[in-house]
Amino acid sequence: MKNDKQIWFKKIPSVDGLLLDPSISALFADYPRSLVLKAIRLVLDGIRAKLIKEDMLVAADFEIKEITQRIIQKVELISRPNLRHVINATGVVVHTNLGRSILAEAVINRLETIGGGYSNLEYDLSQGKRGSRYSHVEDLLIELTSAEAAMVVNNNAAAVLAALDTLAKGREVIVSRGQLVEIGGSFRIPDVMGKSGAKLVEVGTTNKTHLHDYEEAINLETGILLKVHTSNFQIIGFTHEVALSEMVKLGRAHGIPVMEDLGSGSLVDFSKYGLTKEPTVKDVLKEGADLVTFSGDKLLGGPQAGIILGKKELVSAIKKNQLCRALRIDKLTLVALEETLRLYRDEKTLMETIPTLKMICQPFDLINKKGKRLLQMLDEVIPLNFSITILDGFSKVGGGALPSMELSSCLLGLAPGRLSTGFMASWLRAYNPPIIVRVEKETVLLDMRTVQEKEIVILGQAIKELAELV
Ligand SMILES: *Cc1c(COP(=O)(O)O)cnc(C)c1O
Repeated sequence: MKNDKQIWFKKIPSVDGLLLDPSISALFADYPRSLVLKAIRLVLDGIRAKLIKEDMLVAADFEIKEITQRIIQKVELISRPNLRHVINATGVVVHTNLGRSILAEAVINRLETIGGGYSNLEYDLSQGKRGSRYSHVEDLLIELTSAEAAMVVNNNAAAVLAALDTLAKGREVIVSRGQLVEIGGSFRIPDVMGKSGAKLVEVGTTNKTHLHDYEEAINLETGILLKVHTSNFQIIGFTHEVALSEMVKLGRAHGIPVMEDLGSGSLVDFSKYGLTKEPTVKDVLKEGADLVTFSGDKLLGGPQAGIILGKKELVSAIKKNQLCRALRIDKLTLVALEETLRLYRDEKTLMETIPTLKMICQPFDLINKKGKRLLQMLDEVIPLNFSITILDGFSKVGGGALPSMELSSCLLGLAPGRLSTGFMASWLRAYNPPIIVRVEKETVLLDMRTVQEKEIVILGQAIKELAELV
């Protein structure tokens, strides 16, 4: 057996030999030499590893044609970028793992201009001297929310950190036990608190916190009364939460600022579009919150960013904190945020121009139309590998926003035939572009809400290919 193996090993072609093969040397026209060499080595290593593990190889493993084919595939694979466009057929609109919000077309155009050239990022054009990068979005944020002052950082976790570090370092922050949450992507209020050097004072119980719980915890060390939007979870049943307005009254009486970490933070009243009422950022400020923070890429529908709004003296203090230099927003993010905010000025077109809002509020009829279009492409599919159905179901907002809201949607279902749901889901994931689906009740589900118009043709093609697998 061992001797046999030696013979097999000797049959593996050499790197130099393969380089002389016309189909391999042709690769140099499109790929750097180093990449081709890497692909050759990976393929040959694969054959050796297989030989060591399995003792036996099939004849095809040694056929030059088969090996060069594998090398060509490997070069294509490793030269592909790691960060790729995927089709989100999960129905979760603000999907944290899939990049949260899709940017508006106007935003993409501005990214090109600002990213591809110099800009007045920190240059005051009227004075001809150094300016502030934050000034580009401050006025817009104030205009849209009626806040006294505004500031932006890298993300909402950074916004919370900057606020706590500035206003409560070495002091106490009172939070209800019912709001000590962990949010997707491992943002934990107690941990952020620890990093800021603020001391967490938990009050109440998981299900009930009363105003007197806050009141009894207040002392000379208290820096902030903090309310945290519980985002991705809900406590239902025997519960009590203190309203922001009550916390504000208490804070005022003791001269302590009240801050709310809104998480998603919306500038739009979704109840106008038939969805659940959630207080808007403006509502929260009107109720008297001294500071609010929220993400740029959740319900706002912009780039990753952390937005801080509130009382002038508090926001000014945060701006002066040296920590903000480490948390500062990048120019590409800044221009994307500015343009997204500019779109908010026109309430009439908002629901069309901002993809996140458009998808959340998309009427069932339109989603159904997308489903029908896809189904039409598939009418010649023979239901051997799977059978195709159109189903009614629900999509989710995601991103910890409006957690209880279920949006009725149209789903294309692939029920297993010769292929299992697991196989189909992973095959679709390996497609180019990858297609991410949901598997529920032994069916692969493609939720049409989060599928973009131009992606329907690709989905149709992928499903046809999947149906033709033998
Ligand atoms: C999402 C969320 C965060 C974290 O925001 P990032 O922008 O992801 O940093 C913080 N707090 C709450 C309540 C959230 O929902």
